[in-house]
Amino acid sequence: MGATIYRGALFVFYMKGFIKSMENKYIDGEEYIDVADIFGENVFNDAVMRQRLPKKTYQKLKETIRLGAQLDVETADVIAHEMKEWAIEKGATHFSHWFQPLNGITAEKHDSFISAPMSSGKVLMSFSGKELIKGEPDASSFPSGGLRATFEARGYTTWDCTSPAFVRQDAAGATLCIPTAFNTYTGEALDQKTPLLRSMEALNDQAIRFLRIFGNTTSKRVIPCVGAEQEYFLVDREMYNARKDLIYTGRTLFGAMPPKGQEMEDHYFGAIKERVASYMRDVNKELWKLGVTAKTQHNEAAPAQHELAPIYEQANVAVDHNQLTMETLKKVAARHNMYCLLHEKPFAGVNGSGKHNNWSLVTDDGINLFDPGKTVHENTQFLLMLCAVLSAVDKHAALLRESAADIGNDHRLGADEAPPAIISVYLGAQLTDVLDQLIDTGTATHSIKRENMDTGVNVLPEFKKDAMDRNRTSPFAFTGNKFEFRMVGSRDSVGEPNIVLNTILAESLSDICDRVEASEDKDAEIHDIIKELASKHERIVFNGNGYSPEWVREAERRGLPNIPSMVEAIPALVSDDSVELFEKFNVFSKAELESRAEIEYEFYAKTINIEARTMVDITRKQIIPSVIEYTTRLANSINQVRSASDKANVDAQEEILVQVSDNLKLAKEKLDNLEKKIPVAKDILETDKRAIYFHDEIMKAMKELREPVDKLEMLVEKNAWPMPSYGDLLFGL
Ligand code: ADP
Ligand code: MG
Repeated sequence: MGATIYRGALFVFYMKGFIKSMENKYIDGEEYIDVADIFGENVFNDAVMRQRLPKKTYQKLKETIRLGAQLDVETADVIAHEMKEWAIEKGATHFSHWFQPLNGITAEKHDSFISAPMSSGKVLMSFSGKELIKGEPDASSFPSGGLRATFEARGYTTWDCTSPAFVRQDAAGATLCIPTAFNTYTGEALDQKTPLLRSMEALNDQAIRFLRIFGNTTSKRVIPCVGAEQEYFLVDREMYNARKDLIYTGRTLFGAMPPKGQEMEDHYFGAIKERVASYMRDVNKELWKLGVTAKTQHNEAAPAQHELAPIYEQANVAVDHNQLTMETLKKVAARHNMYCLLHEKPFAGVNGSGKHNNWSLVTDDGINLFDPGKTVHENTQFLLMLCAVLSAVDKHAALLRESAADIGNDHRLGADEAPPAIISVYLGAQLTDVLDQLIDTGTATHSIKRENMDTGVNVLPEFKKDAMDRNRTSPFAFTGNKFEFRMVGSRDSVGEPNIVLNTILAESLSDICDRVEASEDKDAEIHDIIKELASKHERIVFNGNGYSPEWVREAERRGLPNIPSMVEAIPALVSDDSVELFEKFNVFSKAELESRAEIEYEFYAKTINIEARTMVDITRKQIIPSVIEYTTRLANSINQVRSASDKANVDAQEEILVQVSDNLKLAKEKLDNLEKKIPVAKDILETDKRAIYFHDEIMKAMKELREPVDKLEMLVEKNAWPMPSYGDLLFGL
């Protein structure tokens, strides 16, 4: 495979803009942190390379990045040497190829810089170009979905030089981390990054064609940009440690609602508690050092829920940075004696967590192709782009929905707290009006103007309102100059959604360019295409309340797919349309898609299996013994009261005893039922059928067990319950 390096441009100007736009001084306890000073201090970024690399080497690397040429070994050797020297100055003893295999985490294998001892018994610190460019982790224990037989353990990691290397400092010391792609011996992708880079190339090729049609001859690259807003929960570490369900599965499997949930809406954007604020400060500091542009932070809707958003950047770097953000959120929480829950639904009955994927297309010379400009109805280029997006999303709605499928997300989508499982596009009043004009007459002659904001208070400054309101219930919303895909789960990589977005848009642009390039009268052809696509794909536009039951019926009438669960979503990955799409743009081969579907089914089955067994374990070893002890105590006390006085009325105690015992009996029955059902899965050999069994049968049995157990929690005294309650967890910081 060799060192195939992605053609891309390092968006240095984003970073510079970020530093300028940010407050330089930031209070850290007593001391001020100079953000501009620490930002990127642990990153082998453009500035460091320019300073440390010989001019010729630096230019060669930049050329490689720009043109996607192969990096020769001599150049790689020089870069590796300088990278090592720089990393050692930061205290690094090890280097690691850092990659994202298909199990949702980032993986790393650490090698120290030491070379074989010399005759003097001393060692040298070395790092060669070969070690920088290519790694060979034992790949046999990473999921491959049948792409690589386990006896063929070879897998390769290859340096993605468009995503900068960084030094990570933690309890393990300092490690030089090199962002890499992960492939099989024969070059098939075993990770998120490889197809993402391929999809960025595909989109670039088609978007450049698109720009040339409109007479742009100066832009050289079109780069998808992503800003991923990350939601998470924080809980106290000791309480976390007392809950086996959180430890084994990342979510609570039992738990009665506390007297107060999120109904007061007093947490969202509320004042941040000291303990949390101090945590956020440390998270920011760590992220800034790693060159991650952590920008916005606030409380979210549920108690104990928070959000962090970075400044957007090119998609592959944004995906890496989101992985780093998740790692950092967890790591810093441990230092603050807290635990960060990234699961999509840690608590039933309160909002879960998502990840809004903000996505736009920006040229190397800074033109945002999703920017409608001041007079949108006259902006033919934008209108054609908009139609391309609508057509892509409508045609591949099921695939896009699949890209956000995650086990935890099944609990959120369509549950009135996150978008429904139906894909639709929110355009807002202004664009919808223009679209309607296009459908009616083929031309738009006017657009709704932005109005002045009238607050009725003279001292408040006047400003123009946005042309559109927001709609939080839409899964795919146009928000001014970007689309916000709101379906993604909080724990999931944003790799897959962006692979899909990039590729479906590449296809749509390619179809449009084929037609325009072949036509005699280009303007007339563009006009026709806009009218045609707007009319054909208008059905995907929905500006109303996505949480309402009417929308579910309306969507059905429009023929839009409604795919409620992950197991039902997976087939879209390997549908004929998807295979044709991905093969045409060299993003996935059919075999790669099939392997991914296989991995997802397997992951689903394994996860629910762990959840089910954890429930059994907790019920048998903790809940039933605690409840028996409680009933015994209660019975003894009833007897004691009775023997002390036959006038004392013990009806209430007896009633509680009966209620508790009834629910205990029910819980025991449901426990036996679940326990009986789990081993059946082993005999279902096909992975998809096994996953469906877990979804249909095991999940149902789990739900049935949870009901009497949650009732028991409400019936027995607080001290008798063997684990912290929802109230303790959600309001315990
Ligand atoms: P919201 O009000 O939607 O919660 P946030 O400020 O939390 O907004 O997050 C918005 C995200 O969108 C940020 O990560 C921001 O950098 C990103 N963003 C802004 N403009 C663009 C763009 N043109 N392309 C991609 N992402 C963008
Ligand atoms: Mg936000």
